[in-house]
Amino acid sequence: MVYRIRAHHGMCFSFFQGKGYSGEFTDNMWAMKEKLNENPEVVLLQETDDVCAHCPNNKEGRCASLEQVADYDRQVLTLCGLSAGVRIKWHDFENLVWKNILEPGRREEICGGCEWNELCRL
Ligand code: SF4
Repeated sequence: MVYRIRAHHGMCFSFFQGKGYSGEFTDNMWAMKEKLNENPEVVLLQETDDVCAHCPNNKEGRCASLEQVADYDRQVLTLCGLSAGVRIKWHDFENLVWKNILEPGRREEICGGCEWNELCRL
């Protein structure tokens, strides 16, 4: 199974504590977290993914904040030296996100305007 993950969700999973857009959304996040902990291969996207599939902001396959989140994806991919469509082991992607974005304190440059920003301060 190759999971579909939009790039900026590589940051969201690091901070997820059970809060989200709906009960269905958070249930799916917990389930996805468990699956990703087994280190499957994922394909990195700049479009709706297996997280968005259970989000109330997903309007017929398009995020209601399409431009904002596509920009988050683009910045994560650039800072990690990756491109949309790349397949990678989840833990390798997590490590790249940690090394290139979270550890050097660059997350808020990317998604500081997100409504969940306060939850994601290290
Ligand atoms: S807000 Fe948009 S990018 Fe985030 S999970 Fe929902 S549909 Fe996906």
